[in-house]
Amino acid sequence: MAYMSSVIASSGRVEIAPDDENAPYTRPPPDAGQDPCALRRQIDYLTREAEHNQAVMQRCQAREMAILNCETLDELLQVLTEDLRPSFQLPYLSLTLFDADGSLRDLLAAVGSGAERYPNLRIVARDDSLVATRGLHRPRLGPWHSDHAPLFPSHATARSTALVPLKRNDRVIGSLNLASSDPHRFTRHHATDFLARIGNIIAVCLENAINRESLRLNSMTDGLTGLLNRRFLDLRLPEEVARSIRYQQPLSCLFIDADHFKRVNDRWGHAAGDEVLKQIANRIRAQLRASDIATRYGGEEFAILLPQTPLDNATALAERIRQQVGGTPIPIDHGRQLTLTLSIGVSQTRAGEWQAVASQCRELLEEADRAVYRAKEAGRNCVCRAL
Ligand code: GH3
Ligand code: MG
Ligand code: MG
Repeated sequence: MAYMSSVIASSGRVEIAPDDENAPYTRPPPDAGQDPCALRRQIDYLTREAEHNQAVMQRCQAREMAILNCETLDELLQVLTEDLRPSFQLPYLSLTLFDADGSLRDLLAAVGSGAERYPNLRIVARDDSLVATRGLHRPRLGPWHSDHAPLFPSHATARSTALVPLKRNDRVIGSLNLASSDPHRFTRHHATDFLARIGNIIAVCLENAINRESLRLNSMTDGLTGLLNRRFLDLRLPEEVARSIRYQQPLSCLFIDADHFKRVNDRWGHAAGDEVLKQIANRIRAQLRASDIATRYGGEEFAILLPQTPLDNATALAERIRQQVGGTPIPIDHGRQLTLTLSIGVSQTRAGEWQAVASQCRELLEEADRAVYRAKEAGRNCVCRAL
């Protein structure tokens, strides 16, 4: 309350943060002079305004705590693109993030929260690719304009907007975009301190969450091939199996084993063997969608998870991978090249059968592994489906 009084006293008028659509606009009564009734009215008015401002402050604090308390990037993006909108009491809110080198998109895809999971998030390659946010260094408030349309997936009744830059050390990493149906909610005359502040908090939290997620991902990436490692697979497999059960969608798995790889090392040396592993990984990667999860299971073995993919499609993909690797010689060094083949086993989660997630995970891998074994017994360089 003391703080609010000082705001009132220092500014000469009560600041209504552009934060509450329902803020009652009450004209301050004329100077009360010696009239006790007028004095009463003025005290009532100031009390109402102080209460209103306190409520606004409390909402701001709750909003900030919700952002600061997020533990993962996924949680933060959920809060920013979903939960903030009702807290601002707005019909439209979106988040724009600038991603010049595509690393954010890759990170989100790798950690299983592809950008498409957040309908109100737009990731753009260049910070000047959206006219509305060009040169945005301070919150920009004003009437709705057609330039704002690309910022909001829907905007039918939008009449005024506030675009808030997300800044880290003078670098703008994105913007929080607010739109109201009330043409007076955001105008040039509104105070912008609250918005600038939340923009700064969001930027710091985003940068920290992205850094944390990148570090976590690095520790789960195979240094030789750049594919994800077995640790990642162990964490991600239960998530994917649970998702496939929840949405009743098939999840397939490829288990890939390079044929006679020991001979490569024996004949060409370990360094050449490493180079071959890298190139196998590249050829596998080139056949996959962004949502597929390619891991180096260990040694010369790879496990690939294919969400929303039935066994037939997974088998066709395995066949393409087998041909891509075995059909074209792999260059190693000094113009030398070698031909290497793959044995691939394919399995799929058992749709409709109730089973604990953990045992479904185990079976998915074991069945693919058994299918590889059969492929080896069948003479290698072939694809076998789980029985
Ligand atoms: P099979 O067709 O039965 O799978 O025969 P294989 O020789 O591929 O299988 P085996 O398990 O006998 O040998 C795997 C070889 O892979 C042995 C190991 O030295 C080699 N290997 C595992 N990891 C690496 C690696 O990171 N780099 C290199 N160069 N070789 C590796
Ligand atoms: Mg092996
Ligand atoms: Mg092998």
